[in-house]
Amino acid sequence: MQYETIILGAGAAGMMCAIHAGRDVLVLDHAKAPGEKIRISGGGRCNFTNMHAGPGNFLSSNPHFAKSALARYTQWDFLDLVGRHGIAWHEKTLGQLFCDDSAKQIVAMLLDEMAQAGATMWLRSEITSVEKTEDGFRLLIESEGKRKTVTCRNLVVATGGKSIPKMGATGLAYDIARQFGLTITETRPGLVPLTFPDGRFSGLSGVSLPVRATCNGASFEEAMLFTHRGLSGPAVLQISSYWREGDAITVNLFPNSDPYEALRAQRQQAGRKNLSTVLAQMLPSRLAEYLSSEWKLTGNLADQSDAALAALCERLTGWELVPTGSEGYRTAEVTLGGVDTDGLSSKTMMAKAVPGLYFIGECVDVTGWLGGYNFQWAWSSGVAAGTAIAAQ
Ligand code: FAD
Repeated sequence: MQYETIILGAGAAGMMCAIHAGRDVLVLDHAKAPGEKIRISGGGRCNFTNMHAGPGNFLSSNPHFAKSALARYTQWDFLDLVGRHGIAWHEKTLGQLFCDDSAKQIVAMLLDEMAQAGATMWLRSEITSVEKTEDGFRLLIESEGKRKTVTCRNLVVATGGKSIPKMGATGLAYDIARQFGLTITETRPGLVPLTFPDGRFSGLSGVSLPVRATCNGASFEEAMLFTHRGLSGPAVLQISSYWREGDAITVNLFPNSDPYEALRAQRQQAGRKNLSTVLAQMLPSRLAEYLSSEWKLTGNLADQSDAALAALCERLTGWELVPTGSEGYRTAEVTLGGVDTDGLSSKTMMAKAVPGLYFIGECVDVTGWLGGYNFQWAWSSGVAAGTAIAAQ
């Protein structure tokens, strides 16, 4: 069977590409259903884009690479599509846009658009091999127990990253990239909870508070959550993408106020209060208890000199924590790194050295922050490749 274009992966990027790639498109996926990550995303409501999406919200060895695709298919373009399908949405926080009802509406919208574009989709299809032919590519597929050979002029790889192998993530995109001589930058789990030695925070499990988390020059002001295994919550997920083994993260427990002035005022008004009691009025009580015992905070407020209070506040606003690791691909929302952008055209996503071969979505070394940015990259890179193919 001969197709003009074959797209590997019926995820966010692959489906978006199929909508724009013009005639004679086949989408292949080994999963039972398309868009499974969309379906479970955003707690079932899909944080499908972010109003503030721009190149600055992405990590890549080449920070300029994403600019072109993001500028040519923006969050407003996607919002327009959502509007045309009558999907109700709302802004949750920080520009993050979610469906009012269900993430399944986004999957249905993409399938509807794909059907209108005339694309064919084969699910439960394993890709056994990919090889170059004189004018395109030949693929061996195992689809529902049958072996099939399909050929195409354009091959788009949209099989995502390594995150959540239980949901069907594989390293296929990286294998294909290597096979055709492209480089893969180091891949790591991103947007992932960070772990600490056994039991360190287990007594605090469930405690959440707003913080500013900082690591390697990046800083995020959002909620942090203590868990049995360590730290999670948006602030920690965000900073995990910047964290490397052995690095410390710095947590400011008072991102919006000055604890020094507050403690000095308390000392004047209620000097006989115990330091840990006062701390429990300023922080979640379990955390205040933990810090009081960990940092051996004793005595009344009146006993504390200005210098002692200043030193305490330095710790409260610059709490240094060294995670032992992360929860890994098992729970990571994304994979950092991937197909090296040096080998790809930023306009079309085509491999510079292999005409007709494209890489889009999460498998490329472009990773967004938490908050709808990763889907925006999937939409934008999918449209970039699709429109380039349709224009041939
Ligand atoms: P995917 O969506 O992962 O699609 C890849 C497709 O390729 C899959 O259908 C898979 O079955 C198929 N595939 C893989 N290997 C093979 C193979 N060997 N053979 C055949 N088919 C294969 N991002 C946001 O912006 N907002 C969110 O709210 C959000 N929530 C998330 C929640 C969770 C739990 C997770 C894990 C991720 C979330 N993300 C979110 C990230 C987002 O889902 C991804 O960045 C995005 O799905 C990447 O799109 P993609 O098309 O590149 O890859």
